[in-house]
Amino acid sequence: MNKPSIYGLTSSQLESWLLERGHKKFRASQVWDYLYRKRVTAFEEMTDVKSECVDLLVEHFSIQTLEVHVKQESADGTVKFLFRLQDGNLIETVLMRHKYGLSVCVTTQVGCNIGCSFCASGLLAKTRDLSSGEIVEQIMNVQHHLDSKGENERVSHIVVMGIGEPFDNFDNMVDFIHIVTDYKGLAIGARKITVSTSGLANKMKEFADTGLQVNLALSLHAPNNELRTRIMKINRAIPIEKLMEAVDYYIEKTNKRITLEYILLRDVNDHVEEAEQLADLFADKGKSVYVNLIPYNPVDEHSQYQRSDQEDVLAFYDTLKKRGINCKIRQEHGTDIDAACGQLRSKQIKKAQGE
Ligand code: SF4
Repeated sequence: MNKPSIYGLTSSQLESWLLERGHKKFRASQVWDYLYRKRVTAFEEMTDVKSECVDLLVEHFSIQTLEVHVKQESADGTVKFLFRLQDGNLIETVLMRHKYGLSVCVTTQVGCNIGCSFCASGLLAKTRDLSSGEIVEQIMNVQHHLDSKGENERVSHIVVMGIGEPFDNFDNMVDFIHIVTDYKGLAIGARKITVSTSGLANKMKEFADTGLQVNLALSLHAPNNELRTRIMKINRAIPIEKLMEAVDYYIEKTNKRITLEYILLRDVNDHVEEAEQLADLFADKGKSVYVNLIPYNPVDEHSQYQRSDQEDVLAFYDTLKKRGINCKIRQEHGTDIDAACGQLRSKQIKKAQGE
């Protein structure tokens, strides 16, 4: 039977687990330190920890449930990892280099049921949620990759934007955040983490209620229901009016800014008219919203969508700016590798199926 990942425990869960088995509190701190500060890759490397305690951990947990299946490195420093899980499923994780630091994009589910029409990940239906340990291990694997280069680099930012809808795996995603932000461990600042949702309005409110200082991004991609339903079928169940309610709740409750993700699709949602509608929608939100314009990375399976012309991207941007909406055009990463989210995974799966 597969053992759960040790990385799925928060520090207080690890402490209670060891206390219940007769170990002292400081053992938990020692183990935590070995996992996240010394970053060992085998329990046996925890040489200062009493052997009975190490044996207990070996008996109940796994320290490596992810195995690197494919690693692609881009000329711009982006590294895309395809991991094999214990049950054989494949997931993607991406390391990106920015001026402000090293950011990792993590996956939260095997496949995704939201089915956004432009997305390579959504082509493969959800098989299961990832455990909190499997999400944390993605960060640990990337950090081990950096450690192995000996350049003293640290993962400084996280975007929960990989395969899956994080709010459809809410509890594990929240545990993940508690683990990676733990100040005695990886100590990644909550403000350096962004969780992206396709717009599960009730969960956005629940997320606001957690009090976590993490950033929230909403994948909007269209300023009206007709267009959004065409691009994202979830809009049928959760239309823009419900999203606006959730946005208001989030801003009111957290006093934080919300990012709106907007993928620009040529001749679909990239006209000045849509930019104006978007500006109308958020006109009263001032600095509480920020629009991220994302040039589309075409995928073979969605040939109906093409990348917007640069002049249309700029016209969209200018329109928002003129209307006083904070926005930027997202910088691209890894364009020489399978850059679109889920692209590497779907290609590998097809290869395995001999397509
Ligand atoms: S964009 Fe995100 S939510 Fe939509 S199908 Fe892809 S992985 Fe799922």
